[in-house]
Amino acid sequence: MGLKTKELIGKERSVRAMGMKISILYLGKMEFPKFRLVDWKDEGAMVQSPAVAILIQHPTLGNILYDTGNCEDFSAVYTEEMLHDYPITEMISIQEALAQKGLTPDDIDLIILSHLHFDHAGGLKHFVGTKAIRRVLVSEADLKNAYWSVMTGNGGAYIRSLFDVEGIQFQTIRETTKLAEDLELFIQASHTPGVIGMVLKTDHHGTILTTSDTIYTAESYEKELPPGGTINKTTDEFFDNLKRIKEMEKAYHATLLFGHDYDQIMDWVAKGVID
Ligand SMILES: [Zn+2]
Repeated sequence: MGLKTKELIGKERSVRAMGMKISILYLGKMEFPKFRLVDWKDEGAMVQSPAVAILIQHPTLGNILYDTGNCEDFSAVYTEEMLHDYPITEMISIQEALAQKGLTPDDIDLIILSHLHFDHAGGLKHFVGTKAIRRVLVSEADLKNAYWSVMTGNGGAYIRSLFDVEGIQFQTIRETTKLAEDLELFIQASHTPGVIGMVLKTDHHGTILTTSDTIYTAESYEKELPPGGTINKTTDEFFDNLKRIKEMEKAYHATLLFGHDYDQIMDWVAKGVID
């Protein structure tokens, strides 16, 4: 009996070692009126909006980081409009969050940025001088949009100094890209012209689909609330993308992870490592 148990444990371990380990990294939050996040009538309602990164420890691809959160020098670097509209009330740097996982920026092999907005690209400077800064994967459409925006005085939520850091080498994708059998990237033309989402096939938790900022919250998804604020010019892209995500959710029997849903992020952080 004893031997059998040992054998079973051994087998279980070897199966587990094959899959990826996913950790949701909470990087603090912004707090602002809800109407700036989603279409919402009550101007007094407030919302907590977390900054999030995802660490994927992958058996063949190495350590992958999806997004890097805000920049801790935000008060000096961000525009007055950003600081006014989306005030940061809690700041945890990507370096601190990685340290909690026993990692440093040197341990990251690949960075994927869902898009280059300030609250996603803000931690890039921590990777200057590491191997990861030479492998920063973004969509071609978002990269072009980011440079066009900052070079024409239409920065919006892009800040050049956050993403145009020393030694950075972008790798761009323009269509669905499979990095491994269990990790696929897809491009959403909503929020910006190219936000990267991920399809993550886990051993024990099914398929996880990350939307990033094309859909901010579970409420926005379920009640079909388009984004508020000034980032989006029309709601057409939001609804087109929503339809596509709903189809993907069905096809993959997927669990969705949204871009800025405080309750969901807290819940997933509490779950610990997802494998
Ligand atoms: Zn964004």
